[in-house]
Amino acid sequence: MPPTPLIASDAHLGHDGLVEVVGGREVACYESPARASAIREALLATGDFVLEPPTDHGPDPISAVHDLEVIDVVEHAWTDAVADGWDPERPLLPDTFLLRAYAAGMALEQLPPARHQRLGAYCFDTGTPIVAGTAAAARAAVDIGLTALDHVLAGAPLAYALCRPPGHHAGRTLIGGYCYFNNAAICAQSLVDRGSRRVAILDVDFHHGNGTQQVFWERGDVLYVSLHGDPAASYPSFSGFALERGEGAGEGATLNLPLPPGTDGAAYGATLREALDAIRAFDPDAPLILSLGFDTYHADPICNLALVTGDYAGIGAAVAGLGLGVVALQEGGYAVDALGANAVAFLGGLREGIADR
Ligand SMILES: [Zn+2]
Repeated sequence: MPPTPLIASDAHLGHDGLVEVVGGREVACYESPARASAIREALLATGDFVLEPPTDHGPDPISAVHDLEVIDVVEHAWTDAVADGWDPERPLLPDTFLLRAYAAGMALEQLPPARHQRLGAYCFDTGTPIVAGTAAAARAAVDIGLTALDHVLAGAPLAYALCRPPGHHAGRTLIGGYCYFNNAAICAQSLVDRGSRRVAILDVDFHHGNGTQQVFWERGDVLYVSLHGDPAASYPSFSGFALERGEGAGEGATLNLPLPPGTDGAAYGATLREALDAIRAFDPDAPLILSLGFDTYHADPICNLALVTGDYAGIGAAVAGLGLGVVALQEGGYAVDALGANAVAFLGGLREGIADR
């Protein structure tokens, strides 16, 4: 099998020095540049991957998924804050949030004009800090995803997008959970815009991709299937329950498969079969968009499943069994020392599965 394109850039290195608030404490962001470096190094060392730069796809694919107001905030909150005297050594984190569900009587048309002052109107948590390089990194991650998609549309059976920051928590109007632009949703929408009528997204990150679910909630042309830690015990807490199945034209096109804490490889595999059966029944006419996280690993510092490195090869092979082209986009995974081995196992299993079919 020819080498698999690995799309990556150094733009993410500017999205650094970040802190988040966890359990009342300010901590170094788990979502660090070292994550992407570890994965890139390990994959290239196998000789099975060829490094490719992203190509510029411009702003239109981003605005096809995200409202212009939230894009404007991501692009300009930092420069507005610094112009207003913000210490450039400190990441910008919102501390006041606009809860639109409780907005009756609020003058929403009078949000503060400076983008850093309105950040809390477009963000849902304290896990999404902004520094000088954040907007450029988020834009590059989108281009990385779209370039991987280009490779698959040009005939590669698999392309791997080393996206950082990740994307699946970012919704149409909200950033959150380390995510600014939703790389997977943008790829899926791009396929629809090129004429696909049934696009499937499989999300195997530990966390529910609440942003992806929201983008396609009322859409029947994009199936969203997610295996994730039970939101009753895990971030993002308020979505990812099995009863969430989409609405209107999208009813039944969202499938959430929450997993209890401690789920091991065997139990995970059984649930994965259910996910893959749903994708087969949907009968996609486009490559699979795969939101790939390794925070299902047993030693992940912020998650609670129990997969081991060897499990990932089997999961990758099972995904290959769908017979679809695969655009794999990096989402989470925070056990930095194990990320390289887990990526090699997963993508190696995927490659072997593709070679066998
Ligand atoms: Zn995650």
